[in-house]
Amino acid sequence: MTQKFDTLGLNKSILDAIEATGYTTPTPVQAQAVPEALAGRDLLVSSQTGSGKTAAFMLPALQALSEPAKVAGRGVRVLVLTPTRELAMQVTKATETYGRNLKRIKTVSIVGGMPYPVQNRLLKAGADILVATPGRLLDQMQSGRVDLTRLEMLVLDEADRMLDMGFKDDLEAIVAQTPAERQTLLFSATIDNNIARLAHGMLKNPVRIDVSGQQAKHENIEQRLHFADDMAHKNRLLDHLLRDESMQQAIVFTSTKRAADDLASDLHSQGFAVGALHGDMKQAARTRTLAALRKGGLRVLVATDVAARGIDVQGISHVINYDLPRQAEDYVHRIGRTGRAGKNGIAISFANVRETFTVRNIERFTSQAIPVSVIEGLEPKQKAFDRKPAGAPKKFGAKPAGKFGGKFSDRGTTFGDRASSGHGAGSSFSNASKPSGAKPDYAKSGGAKPSGLGSWTKPASAYAGKKEGSFGDKKQGTATTRRTTV
Ligand code: AMP
Repeated sequence: MTQKFDTLGLNKSILDAIEATGYTTPTPVQAQAVPEALAGRDLLVSSQTGSGKTAAFMLPALQALSEPAKVAGRGVRVLVLTPTRELAMQVTKATETYGRNLKRIKTVSIVGGMPYPVQNRLLKAGADILVATPGRLLDQMQSGRVDLTRLEMLVLDEADRMLDMGFKDDLEAIVAQTPAERQTLLFSATIDNNIARLAHGMLKNPVRIDVSGQQAKHENIEQRLHFADDMAHKNRLLDHLLRDESMQQAIVFTSTKRAADDLASDLHSQGFAVGALHGDMKQAARTRTLAALRKGGLRVLVATDVAARGIDVQGISHVINYDLPRQAEDYVHRIGRTGRAGKNGIAISFANVRETFTVRNIERFTSQAIPVSVIEGLEPKQKAFDRKPAGAPKKFGAKPAGKFGGKFSDRGTTFGDRASSGHGAGSSFSNASKPSGAKPDYAKSGGAKPSGLGSWTKPASAYAGKKEGSFGDKKQGTATTRRTTV
């Protein structure tokens, strides 16, 4: 049975706002988190970006604010901490949307890069909800402009990212100045030991909600991998993809700020409506770029990871990894920029044959294979991969997605169930973690080439000097790739 919003315990003005927004059913994280948060419980939630997590914390927060304050006076009642300015802006916007019928509630956003005089004025005028990045908030708290003694609810949004960005001490310093009896909701893409430690210090007997497995699969996003021989080849592929009419808007990810600027400038000179977004840009420029993207004035955004995190623009039909992300987790965040709000999306990654290991890490992390595609006329010269044949099931075996599922703890067994499915591929991933020189099981069985997922064979030279050298004794296979005209 599909749950409805009116069963979650929300009041009428909030339900009306949800209806006006066009949502008909709560997402899984909303269905699980809202009733518990309304009951006053602390929450430890693992959910991915795009899961509807903002409403999962903001709807109960707004409901709390529609009741009289527990402590009289002025001062912030709800504080949402986010890792980036963009996410803070997005949360602020969502708050205004969901709180449209609650007229007296004021939301203020305090982020780095914003001029102090503007910020100081906003803070002086008073705020019920503060959405902030940790560094600037702490700065303002130390200047005596933010008083958290009246705080009722603290939300840590994308807590894993805040830790990654080195905000741990800032977070602890901020939390130390909030009342112990506050309600705390912690949202994170994954719950690892660092998050668990943070949660232990900040949450009281939290309800644990985990929807990360469902979201991480990104079932509405078609993933493709294009092998590119070199940069010139990548540029030709990119040009082809961007000229395709089915592409509404795309975010193209590069690994450095410099590369983002250079590529944006190249694309601009080729006539594309393009903008760049990266951490070196002034806040005003970033805001302008995002506004242009949202309004459709930009068709292509070339971005780095940090800047693009949290972007929620529904017109993004394609995400293109011009450079692969260094961290598998960033891949999930990147591709989550498309397929927003239930739409379908396409995520395309360019990789060089030398990046096999990075691709494998991503596939292991998501428990999904990324099917290889070629564009007619733009085929790679280096056909060094033997991937699953077209038509074979897209996904790995029964293993649920999760940060540690395939990554560390059970590396050797994660894909083992595929071995018994007749593909014989269970060994290929297991052996990826063996020290150099260890042979995969299939190598011993007369060199019969496994046909399953991840069972790539490569020429010995492609692995020279690399840990994956254990595959070096495999003879080169024929690339079995899917053709597409995109
Ligand atoms: P979030 O994960 O909070 O960034 O939300 C991702 C996207 O889903 C945003 O564009 C939201 O507007 C949209 N969204 C959130 N909740 C729902 C819902 N219950 N039904 C449809 N769309 C939703």
